[in-house]
Amino acid sequence: MCGIVGYVGRQDGVPVLLEGLARVEYRGYDSAGLAVAKGGALRVHKKEGRVGDLAASLPKRLSGTTGIAHTRWATHGPPSDVNAHPHVDTGCDVAVVHNGMLENAEELRAELQAAGVALASDTDTEVLAHLIAADDDVDDLEGAVARVLQRVTGSYGIAVLHAAQPDRIVIARNGSPVIIGIGERETMVSSDVAALVRHCRQVVHLDDGELATLTKDGFQASTLGRRPSPKQATELDRAPEEYEKGGFQHFLAKEIHEQPEAVERALSGRIEDRFATAHLGGIELTPRELRAVRRIKVLGCGSAYYSGLMGAGLIEALARVPADAEPAAEFRQRNPLIEPDTLYIAVSQSGETLDTLLAVEEVRRKGGRVLGMVNVVGSSIARAVEGGIHLRAGAEVSVASTKSFTNTVVAFALLALHLGRVRDLSPADGERLIAGLRALPGQIAEILEREDEIAAVAERLAPAHSAFFIGRVSGFPAALEGAQKLKEVSYIHAEAYPASELKHGPLALISPEMPSVCVVPDDHLVAKNRSAIEQIRARGGETIVVAQTSVGDLADAESLVPRCEPELAPLLLNIPLQVLAYHAAVELGRDVDQPRNLAKSVTVE
Ligand code: GLU
Repeated sequence: MCGIVGYVGRQDGVPVLLEGLARVEYRGYDSAGLAVAKGGALRVHKKEGRVGDLAASLPKRLSGTTGIAHTRWATHGPPSDVNAHPHVDTGCDVAVVHNGMLENAEELRAELQAAGVALASDTDTEVLAHLIAADDDVDDLEGAVARVLQRVTGSYGIAVLHAAQPDRIVIARNGSPVIIGIGERETMVSSDVAALVRHCRQVVHLDDGELATLTKDGFQASTLGRRPSPKQATELDRAPEEYEKGGFQHFLAKEIHEQPEAVERALSGRIEDRFATAHLGGIELTPRELRAVRRIKVLGCGSAYYSGLMGAGLIEALARVPADAEPAAEFRQRNPLIEPDTLYIAVSQSGETLDTLLAVEEVRRKGGRVLGMVNVVGSSIARAVEGGIHLRAGAEVSVASTKSFTNTVVAFALLALHLGRVRDLSPADGERLIAGLRALPGQIAEILEREDEIAAVAERLAPAHSAFFIGRVSGFPAALEGAQKLKEVSYIHAEAYPASELKHGPLALISPEMPSVCVVPDDHLVAKNRSAIEQIRARGGETIVVAQTSVGDLADAESLVPRCEPELAPLLLNIPLQVLAYHAAVELGRDVDQPRNLAKSVTVE
């Protein structure tokens, strides 16, 4: 889940490692540490708590041109100074940082203990340091690491440092991302490009089952079986500013406000006016193959799943192909039927969501065809699928997803347009949708200009312990995502319901203490939505309405979004809900960008 940073180069690595750790902080963690090699010895410092606490506790003169560092998200043993990484062997010759979980750690711990090794921590990781140090030929550090990893089961991204080999770091990957950053006479490694952006312009993604030795002049990659593994470097597509707040109080606010440009980027170069269709370079399906698709199934977790529900709606509306979305883990764990004429689409902002990745692997193992929608080029899901659409949302730092959610819906609209136009969507309807898409950035900006009004509504909502979010058909996924956002960042309990279902149960909960946020697109269901709102009011419930046309007195508070092409309404209606959640969280003094118990990229099952 968390962060690895390593540096080998011409300058002092300590500040680079600390800055790298600060850049991966957003992912969530409980402790941090680093090790540098100098003068034939390792200096190791680690601490429970924040990266700032670690930095403050370091000796002033600590330096070294080679080092590794880590932010931990405990899986084996509670957060503590001792359990923090790096972990070392008894003689403190080998230091290891590790992301992931070893499955046979108990056996290996028992084996070491039987051989008289005293283990200092409760972690699975520590066994790696002892086993590597005990290898017969540890002078060949990469070989020693490879031999030890052959005995290990489970997931890992690791970086290893040896006191006697201060010119190198050995890294390896199995199921947890490890990215090499190439700089000028300096080489880095991280689990997240965020830590690399200041120093490197090129990156190389290690694959599962590979390891590499990094020196200041570059790297050499091989397989665990020690065969050379030629790797291609790619340009880093992120700028350092993307990881800064740029004048906003929180990344969440910044990312909400970046949506007009993010949507612009998602559309750029992807519209083919001549044929009123979308041009999607990452999807290599011929028109004939696209026509053979009988069903579309979207897989994702959390907000990615909700964006998939919106996406399925767009596909059904525009391409008239049956489509639905399902939480990726639920799908995988029920032994799904994989049909050859179904097209599967995996959605994940980070491209590292393990539940989604495993679902992709399940589909592929059974011969199904999967496309991806991810925001991180080179990520695990991006590489596990047969093609897809890059979200182009830019770095998303806040744990709660906003601009990547919006861009996913835009990507679905483009896919739906493309699919529709090889089927029976008319050129006129294609043109209508294209005009609608092109209007989105301006319309989102217009909604954000009225942020103060929505902030005032959030003040009303903040004292509530619980809230309903209701919507009907295309409004329902927006209600789901709105409730999710409010829960995540404000910790107010929120539950989304189809408006039509209220009377079949939850209406019993309506009272003056239970506000309802009602999502009302300008569609053929406006009258039905109004009557649901009336039913809530008749029972003393407060109504906060997000609509395209005012519902007048029916709303205790109202936020309006511009009218648009009906297929795109859910996307626009979601924007005030993001702003609402943000301001409720600020009002309640929450840790907006790093909500409790959550992590940005969920790489555990
Ligand atoms: N399993 C290791 C531990 O509990 C690493 C966890 C992580 O990914 O941070 O220490």
